[in-house]
Formats: sequence, C-alpha cells, structure tokens
Amino acid sequence: MAERITIIGSGPAGWTAAIYAARANLEPVVYEGAFNEDNRLKGTLPLGQLAQTTEVENFPGFPSGDMTGYLDDSIDEKIRKYMAPNSKHGVSGPELMELMRQQAKNFGTRVVTDDIVDLDLANGSPFKIKSLGGDEFESHAIIIATGASANYLGLESEERFKNMGVSACAVCDGAMPRYRDNALVVVGGGDSAMEEGTFLTKYASKVYIVHRRAEFRASKIMAERALANPKIEVKWNSNIDEVLGDDTNGVTGVRIRSTIDEGQTEELAVSGYFAAIGHTPNTSFLKGQLEMNDKGYLIWPVSHRTNTSVDGVFAAGDVADDHYKQAVTAAGTGCASALDAERWLAARGLV
Ligand SMILES: Cc1cc2nc3c(=O)[nH]c(=O)nc-3n(C[C@H](O)[C@H](O)[C@H](O)COP(=O)(O)OP(=O)(O)OC[C@H]3O[C@@H](n4cnc5c(N)ncnc54)[C@H](O)[C@@H]3O)c2cc1C
Repeated sequence: MAERITIIGSGPAGWTAAIYAARANLEPVVYEGAFNEDNRLKGTLPLGQLAQTTEVENFPGFPSGDMTGYLDDSIDEKIRKYMAPNSKHGVSGPELMELMRQQAKNFGTRVVTDDIVDLDLANGSPFKIKSLGGDEFESHAIIIATGASANYLGLESEERFKNMGVSACAVCDGAMPRYRDNALVVVGGGDSAMEEGTFLTKYASKVYIVHRRAEFRASKIMAERALANPKIEVKWNSNIDEVLGDDTNGVTGVRIRSTIDEGQTEELAVSGYFAAIGHTPNTSFLKGQLEMNDKGYLIWPVSHRTNTSVDGVFAAGDVADDHYKQAVTAAGTGCASALDAERWLAARGLV
C-alpha cells in the first residue's frame, strides 16, 4: 500500500512539515538521511544545518538567559504551573533539532534514517521512491525538505575553527560577543559577500572582504554600498591561505596570499571568518524531475504556495529558498507544505 505522505529531509522544514502532517492524521514517514561518510563530507548528516552550529539566538521562543526566570516573572502562577519548561538557557542548534524531531515523533511520525536516492515523478502520483538502503515504495504526496549546504573553501583550518570563529551565516552569528567590536573577515565577491560584509559592520570594528579578483561579481548597487562603507576594506586579488588561531581563543587571524604574486602574503588580525561563497542546494537526486533555477534550487511556481512543478510534490525550506535561508523561514514553509499537501490529498479523497 502506498504511503500517504513522505517527507524527505530532517531540518526545521522537514520536522515542521511532519508535526503538521502527523497532527492531521496523515501518518507521515520522514526519511531523515543516512549517517555515512559521504553525508559527513557534504555537511548533510541527519538533523540538517543547525546540527552543525552552537547557539541559535534568533529562533522565536528561545531567548538566551534564564528561561524559567523569565516565565516565573511574567506568567501568572495559576497558568505557569501547567506549562513550565524547566530549562535554564536558550537553545542550541542540535537541541532545537532533537526537540523538533521528538515533537514530530510524539504525534506518530515514522522516522527512517536513510537517504532517498531516486524518485520517479514522471508517471504521476503515487510516486515510486527508492532509498540508499534498498527501500522501494510508493507515496501519494511528497514533501522535499532536503535543504542546502553552505560552501566553504575546504581548508583544514576552516574545519578546525567551525563554531570558534568560522561561520557561514552573518545574520545568524554576527551579533555574538566574539564578533562585536573586533575586526572580521568575509570571503567572497558576490551579492552574499557584499550583504554579509555590510551587515557585519553593525557590530564589527572593521570588516575585510577578501576577493580573488580585481572586481566584484556582485550587482553594482550592492558592491557600491559595500565599497562606500568606511568600515569595509577590500583585499583585492587575494585568497585565504589559512585561518589562524588556537584551541583556546578560536580564530585570531587569517593569512592571505596574492593571486598575482604568489610569494606575497599578509596576516590580518581578526576574531571571525565568514565564508560567503554561496550554498549548494541538496537537489542532485532530483535533476531532470523538478524545475530548478540556475543554481539548482527548486522553484515554487505559484506565489505563496509550496507546490513544485509536479502535481503532488511540494517543497519546503532552504531547498527552494536561496533568499532568506533561516531556520524560522524553513519551519514556516515546512508548515505551509504540510497544509498544502493535506488539501491536495483531501481533494483526491485520500485523507
Ligand atoms: C553554521 C550555521 C549556523 C546557522 N545558524 C542559524 C541560526 O542561528 N539561526 C537561523 O535561523 N538559521 C541558522 N542557520 C541557517 C539554518 O540552519 C537553515 O536555514 C535551516 O537549517 C534550513 O532548514 P531546512 O529544513 O531547509 O534544511 P537543512 O537544515 O539544510 O536540512 C536538510 C537535511 O535533510 C537531509 N537530507 C538531504 N538530502 C536528503 C536525501 N536525499 N534523503 C534524506 N534526507 C536528506 C540532510 O540531513 C540535510 O542536512 C545556520 C546555518 C549554518 C550552516
């Protein structure tokens, strides 16, 4: 018998879709990805991008600080005694993801720790699906929530200092204490490097943008805004040679190397390193099956709906969003995709 709804992916989008689908009695199954070396290297182990970070300071509902204290002070005791979460802090990425996963399971979501590797979408619903571990089954509706992976240069020293001054998300991490009032470095020359660099000047004393060419790839307006910012200094024709630091302090600097004169290096003292060289959406297994943009992100053809180009297949989260790329927006479209899928199934008498 075919599954009613299969959710592929295990970030905020996938778990939120599962919570809504399970509460609508759709008995969803989530393929959360496989724990294997291939996924570790690609940064796509189960629980998504947030499982690779530490504090999440901007997910609504989890203020850092004494959460129990905030609630004690603000909520009437009669109500409070029925609702106290006994936590003393905000939330970290891995905790948030474990809690979302548990919440989905509490409502009856089945979770399979495996990758989906093949779909037959051309012949319509119910769709044929294959997993890496050899599962073969059919599903009436599918939600794709496979997310994206931040691109890094691939240096060993980048890997060593992740969460200790190396980041790929200025909006997520820029306000943290280690980056405030210090010099920072951003790598890249496209719109995201301009955006991240300009954003970081709100907190940093200085922002270096390191770019391997003599001009930016970014749109003229974004580049001009960055270049006009007195806190930004561009290091043209330069590559990052190495991220410098130690286990106690994390990142303390970077060594850059000229792309014109390879013998010429310079060290910049910085407390943070932001890679802004794009993301890769996890859509390679969908090539030729669903419409994508030139970067490989899935397309939502109808405004404010999560339908894809194939009837019965929905997309949620970063896999279809190369603009906002936040946990809360991924959770938002995860919710929307479950509601869209439920209505689609109901219209066919499948709920
Ligand atoms: C270092 C870092 C820090 C961040 N910090 C914050 C923050 O503080 N606040 C914030 O709002 N956002 C933050 N973000 C961004 C946020 O993590 C993403 O916007 C969000 O996780 C996207 O969620 P998603 O559900 O779309 O997919 P993802 O989180 O990308 O998860 C998708 C997962 O699905 C699984 N998957 C992929 N392909 C398959 C397949 N074929 N079969 C089965 N499973 C598959 C993989 O496990 C993959 O990781 C951060 C990102 C990074 C990289």
